[in-house]
Amino acid sequence: MSEKKVRVRFAPSPTGALHIGGVRTALYNYLFARQQGGELIFRIEDTDSNRFVPGAEEYIIESFRWLGIKFDEGVSFGGDKGPYRQSERREIYKQYVQQLLEAGKAYIAFDTPEELEAKRNEIQNFQYDARTRGLMRNSLTMSKKEVDDLIADGKQYVVRFKIEPGEEVLVDDLIRGEVRIKTDILDDKVLYKSADELPTYHLANIVDDHLMEVTHVIRGEEWLPSAPLHVLLYRAFGWADTMPRFAHLPLLLKPEGKGKLSKRDGDRLGFPVFPLEWHDPKSGEVSSGYRESGYFPEALVNFLALLGWNPGTEQEVFTMDELIKAFDISRCSKAGAKFDYKKGIWFNHEYILNSPAEKIAELFAPIVANNGIDATMEQVIKVTAMMKDRVNFVSELWPLCSFFFIAPEQYDEKTVKKRWKENSAQVMMELVDVLDGIDDFTIEGQEPVVMAWVQSKEYKLGDVMNAFRLCLVGEGKGPGMFDISAFLGKQETIKRIKKAVEVLG
Ligand code: GLU
Repeated sequence: MSEKKVRVRFAPSPTGALHIGGVRTALYNYLFARQQGGELIFRIEDTDSNRFVPGAEEYIIESFRWLGIKFDEGVSFGGDKGPYRQSERREIYKQYVQQLLEAGKAYIAFDTPEELEAKRNEIQNFQYDARTRGLMRNSLTMSKKEVDDLIADGKQYVVRFKIEPGEEVLVDDLIRGEVRIKTDILDDKVLYKSADELPTYHLANIVDDHLMEVTHVIRGEEWLPSAPLHVLLYRAFGWADTMPRFAHLPLLLKPEGKGKLSKRDGDRLGFPVFPLEWHDPKSGEVSSGYRESGYFPEALVNFLALLGWNPGTEQEVFTMDELIKAFDISRCSKAGAKFDYKKGIWFNHEYILNSPAEKIAELFAPIVANNGIDATMEQVIKVTAMMKDRVNFVSELWPLCSFFFIAPEQYDEKTVKKRWKENSAQVMMELVDVLDGIDDFTIEGQEPVVMAWVQSKEYKLGDVMNAFRLCLVGEGKGPGMFDISAFLGKQETIKRIKKAVEVLG
C-alpha cells in the first residue's frame, strides 16, 4: 500500500466526438481525484495517425469546460510531466522499446502483412506467440547480422512483446475483483512500428502512466481485455511495485438494457450521445449534443454519475461537490448500466425545479425577445417563476407562456364548446365591472372581491373561472387565474375579456 498522492488520468484518442461513456469515465476520474485530494491528468493518445480527426481534441476540451470537469495538468493545462500529447513523445518511447529489446523481452519482426496473411491461411487460428514465433521472420529466428542488414537497408519492422507461456497474470481490479488469465492465450502484441516511428497504444499507455506517476487507471470495461498485457508490461519494465490500481467501469447499455449503447440508439429514440453538437469534418454529418439540446451541465453530470455507481442511499439529486464527497469507487457496479435517457430528462427537470427563477429567466429572456416581445426582466422573472416547474427544458417555456405576452387571437374550439356557456358573455361583462372597481390589482386584492361577487350572484365558481381563463389565455391551460390577471394588469385583463365577449358572443 502506498501513501503516494493519487494521480489519475483521462486519456482519450482524438478520433471524433467524445462519446457519453467517455464523459462518464472522465467524470469518475475527476470525482475520485477530487475526493482523494489527488490530481487529474488530461493525456491525448494519438499514436494511431490513421484515426486522427482534426478538431476532436478541441471538442473534448470544450466539453469538459462546459461540464465543469477540471484537469490539473495535461494538454492545454500545463504541468511538468509533459508533453502530454503522445505524438510528441516519440523519443521517450524509443528508449523504452530499446530497453525491452536489450533485456530480451521484446524482439524485432519483419513479417509483411502478406506473409502474415499467408500464415493465417496456412495455420488454423494462427496467433503470433510462443508456438509460432519460431516459424516467422524475426530477430529470434534470424542472425544478428541479417537483422542489422535489413534495418540498414531501410526495411520496415515492428517490435513485438515476447510473452512467456505457462504463467498466470493477476489483474486486481477495484470493481471486478481478481481477474486471472493464463499467458498462453495472449499473442505477442506489436509495441512499436518503424514505419511511423511510433509505439502502439499499449506501450505508450504503460510508459506514460509510469512516467506520469499514475496511481489508478479508471477506464471503460472495453479495456479490461488489455489489462493482463499491461500487467505483463509493467513486470517486463521492472515497474511492478508502482503499477497503478485498475478499475474497469461497467458498460453503458442500450435503454432497453441489451447490448452496448450506440449512436444509433440515440438517433432512433431521440437523445444525444455526445456532450456537445459535433460536426464531423469528413462526412459533414451533424450530431446533436446535450448542450445544444438544452440540458444543464449539472443535470448531465448528475445523470452520468449515477449510471454505474450508486451512493447506497435514496439520494438522487447531487451537486458536483456532493458527488465528490459521496463518490466511492468500490460502489461501482460490475453489471452494465442501462442508459435510461428519460432519467436524464428528469434530472434536467429537477435542476430547473431547484434553480431560482432569476437563473432560468436569464435563459428564457432571449427567447422572449426573439419572439418579438419587449418585456422587462422583471416580467420575464415573474412568468418564469409561475411556469418553470412545469417544463423539462427552457425551450419548452415559450409555447406555455406566450399568452402572458400576446393576447389570444383565437379561442380553442373544444374549450369554447365546453366552457363558454349561454350566459358567459353576460357574466364576463359583469366581471369587467367588478374588476374595474378594484384598486389593488394584486392577487390578494382581486381574489376576495371576485369571490364575494360570485357568491352574491350564486354563480358556479368553476363556470366563472373557466370562462375567465378562456378570455385571458384563449384555451384551458395556465397557472392560477389571479396569477394571470395580476400579471397582465387591470387594463389588459379587461381588454382581453371584452375582446373575447365580442368574438364569442
Ligand atoms: N486511449 C484510450 C481511449 O481512447 C485510453 C484507454 C485507457 O484509459 O487506458 O480510451
